[in-house]
Amino acid sequence: MVYKIVKLGHPVLEQVAEPVREFDTPELHQLIGDMFETMYAHKGVGLAAPQVNVSQRLTVIDTSAGEDPAQKLVLINPEITRLEGSQVGEEGCLSIPGFREDVKRAMKATLHARNAKGEEFEITGEELLARAMQHELDHLNGILFLQHLSALKRDLIRRKIRKLQKAGEWE
Ligand SMILES: [Zn+2]
Repeated sequence: MVYKIVKLGHPVLEQVAEPVREFDTPELHQLIGDMFETMYAHKGVGLAAPQVNVSQRLTVIDTSAGEDPAQKLVLINPEITRLEGSQVGEEGCLSIPGFREDVKRAMKATLHARNAKGEEFEITGEELLARAMQHELDHLNGILFLQHLSALKRDLIRRKIRKLQKAGEWE
């Protein structure tokens, strides 16, 4: 099932999500499958559960955008354990469609997470994968990429979005 993605302005996007406590349940597997389906339908490389109005610490990432099944990544209750270097690159968000800006992130990120079965693992990503992991983990803490921009740029984007909301073009 392809979910509706909630957009900036929905309170769930600014909440700190709850840890997943039950693993390997049919509901969890279904949610993960649906999140991949939703992400691919919207041509994204990452999707966090709060973006489908589920306030849980769960995110899916696929930097190949569906081209290579080996790149599919499920991160549950993830914690960043190490950040190294820096990179600046264009970033967007399925919850803020139509807006892309340069964002500074660590070049390399290591995190600790659980998979759908509840098994713990560690993963290190660089470049795009590191960027996606940092972006998606921010979502679990109620943080959007706009918060990494200058106040000036952020206000400009928020003003444009308010106009779209008034015009009924931001649902
Ligand atoms: Zn996002």
